[in-house]
Order: sequence, then C-alpha cells, then structure tokens
Amino acid sequence: MEKCAICGGEMSVTKDKPYNYPMGGLQVILLGIPQYTCSECGEEFTTIPNAEALHKMIGLEICKNKKGLLLPEEIIFLRKELSLNAIGLAGVLGVDPSTLSRWENGKKAIGEGYDRMIRMSYLTCFDDPCPKEKRCYKLLSLFSELPQKRKPVKDKTPILINPQEWLTPAMACC
Ligand SMILES: [Zn+2]
Repeated sequence: MEKCAICGGEMSVTKDKPYNYPMGGLQVILLGIPQYTCSECGEEFTTIPNAEALHKMIGLEICKNKKGLLLPEEIIFLRKELSLNAIGLAGVLGVDPSTLSRWENGKKAIGEGYDRMIRMSYLTCFDDPCPKEKRCYKLLSLFSELPQKRKPVKDKTPILINPQEWLTPAMACC
C-alpha cells in the first residue's frame, strides 16, 4: 500500500479513470494508468512509466489521424520530438524562422504543403522498426543543407551509380 507523501495517509489506487496527460496544450487522455489518491488529504499522483514511447505514440496519432491542419501546439510538439529547435525545423522546411514562429504562435495557419511535410518528416523518423539510436534523422539534415531560394537548374553532371549501391541483395534499412 502506497503512503501519501504529504500526510502519510493511505493511498487508494484506480486504473479505471481516464487520465488527462498534461502535454503542452495537447488533449491527451491515457487509459489504464494507475492513479493514486490519498484518503486523508486528497493528494493525487500518477507515474508515467515510459514517457518516450508515449510521446512517440502521441506524435504518430497526430501525424496519421489528425484530419485538420496542424495546430500550433501540435507543430511545437512534433518539432520537439524531432529534437529540432525553431531554426532547425525552419531549415528542414526551407522557410524563414519567422514564418515557423507565426505557425507556432497561431498568427498564421500552416498551409497544406508544410503540414504534410512536417508529418512526413515525423513519420520517416519514427514510424519504422529502427531503434531510437538509428532513427532516420539523416533525412532531416539532407533537407536542411539545401540552399534557400533555389532555382530549377539543369545539371550537366549525370547521376552516377555504382553496382554495389543497388545490385547487392542485402541493403541496409537506413
Ligand atoms: Zn495525504
């Protein structure tokens, strides 16, 4: 039996009550989480066992199931989960940081293309069987290294591909 950290009273536990997970303005409800309440003073506490896996799931839910354009709090959540600061994500998307900041503070709606690109970035990094340390963040750096305000250029150098780059049977996933 858990004891209350405030008054030492007995804590009762329930797993049946939906738990409102406080996550930066997102509405997240967790089911099946043990919630303790002190029978003496009413103090409540809950422990979240695997926050990393939970955050990954929240991000996947947003990217796969959210029908409307991303909201400011969703953009901020996904950016943080991608371990990017505002300049970093703006670089990946090829927008000015001030544009990203307007999406994140709700002064401007994100727009169809960038909404999809943020989701795609998240899904590419998280919706794969790779363990955390092998996540495909490489793709993000690929985009962030592209120069800003590019023009269509006909490249005179052909694309050169070596046989071992595509004819070898076991190709690594990332
Ligand atoms: Zn108590």
